[in-house]
Amino acid sequence: MYLYNSATHKKEEFQTHTPGRVEMYTCGPTVYHFAHIGNLRSYIMEDVLEKFLRYEGYDVNRVMNITDVGHLASDADTGEDKMLKGAKRENKSVMDIAKFYTDAFFDDCAKLNIKTPEVVQPATGLIDEFIKTVSALIDKGYAYLAGGNVYFDTSKLDRYYVFNDHDEEDLAVGVREGVEEDQNKRNKNDFVLWFTKSKFEDQALKWDSPWGVGYPGWHIECSCISMKFNGEYLDLHCGGVDNAFPHHTNEIAQSEAYLGHPWCRQWFHVHHLNTNSGKMSKSKGEFLTVSLLEEKGYDPLAYRFFCLQSHYRKGLVFSWENLDNAAGAYNKLVKRVAALTGTEGGVDEEAAARFKEKFLTQVGNDLNTSMGITCLYDVLKAPVNDATKRAVLASFDSVLSLSLLEKAAALREKEAAQAKSAASAGGFTVQGEGDPAIDALVLQRAEAKKAKNFAEADHIRDELKAQGVEVTDVPGGAVWKRV
Ligand SMILES: [Zn+2]
Repeated sequence: MYLYNSATHKKEEFQTHTPGRVEMYTCGPTVYHFAHIGNLRSYIMEDVLEKFLRYEGYDVNRVMNITDVGHLASDADTGEDKMLKGAKRENKSVMDIAKFYTDAFFDDCAKLNIKTPEVVQPATGLIDEFIKTVSALIDKGYAYLAGGNVYFDTSKLDRYYVFNDHDEEDLAVGVREGVEEDQNKRNKNDFVLWFTKSKFEDQALKWDSPWGVGYPGWHIECSCISMKFNGEYLDLHCGGVDNAFPHHTNEIAQSEAYLGHPWCRQWFHVHHLNTNSGKMSKSKGEFLTVSLLEEKGYDPLAYRFFCLQSHYRKGLVFSWENLDNAAGAYNKLVKRVAALTGTEGGVDEEAAARFKEKFLTQVGNDLNTSMGITCLYDVLKAPVNDATKRAVLASFDSVLSLSLLEKAAALREKEAAQAKSAASAGGFTVQGEGDPAIDALVLQRAEAKKAKNFAEADHIRDELKAQGVEVTDVPGGAVWKRV
């Protein structure tokens, strides 16, 4: 596939260190609160990317961290620890908060059909690894001790800003948030690898280290977790675009300083979900979660559909009206899939292969998910039998994960149940095979008999017979079947 690489600022043919295998890393959530649907947009797009790579035949090893310590209110190491903030807000322990919001995150992912990565590693479970890496960085001359903390020395690198010439705004975020000057830093962009002199007396989680009791910085956890579970050569690193600086920039700095060779080949950044008043955040405006969408009657998969309709490298504007439009289109799509009930003929393998080839090319052009959706409609209107359509749609849906066939089957069942109950009148119940038109005829015949209009009753019986329907009278109603 071709994928835009934010490190080189161009669309490139996707390649891996080991042929056929993708080592993929995703920055996971900081588990101090529910994820908002803007965060989840990134995870949806990353999920499609992973599934598309598998569809292309790659074996994917995907690793994700869970940040349960060290992520301060500002990404630039200032402010309060987010976990502590969450614990105080809810009057619970940090570990309780971490457990609760980790579970909530994966519940949301499940509702959005986001697959759980092969490895999910909470930061607090790998402290020894972080200490080992920080020690090595000090030994190699890339890190220094000041004011009780260990800092990474960005002046030791030939090139620190990897992403900023692509998007000056990414850099501006870090600068703006770094309002609190840290006097211990030798250079403006140096960052904390290990906090020993905690700024917070009540910091809940602390560990012993060669530099005293403390806790790791946020950036080091991703580098260490990836190097441990993905190995020394990472093929694909994903995250929201707001993580490009400083978080991903710092990850590259410390990983390459530690390894002594280039680390990650390909960077995939998903752009923001915006509201009319700007970038969506937890602190601003309505706190939009998957649960809130459900409370308002939306299927979470309608939100997934909404995200897939636009390109991951463009900001997406969320409004209830936009979501309504997406939900309407999604429901119509499911209805059309539900109508594919034809049983004639088998799968036309040649046609199926042609559809798949097109899907691979279209979606493989920088993960163009809206073209992936167009491919679904192309299949629906193509002159092939329903068996072929069902097979191809199922195949595409292994990437898009919109549960199209499952939702269609549920819709057919619901409609059949509704048709059955609709055919109950005047104490007379019709049980059939879920065809409302036949149900209605059977009911009309019963009413004609009741009114002693036998000519009309016979006429309807003949009509039913002509349609291959056999009616059996039972106490309180009738049962029909096709013979
Ligand atoms: Zn990360």
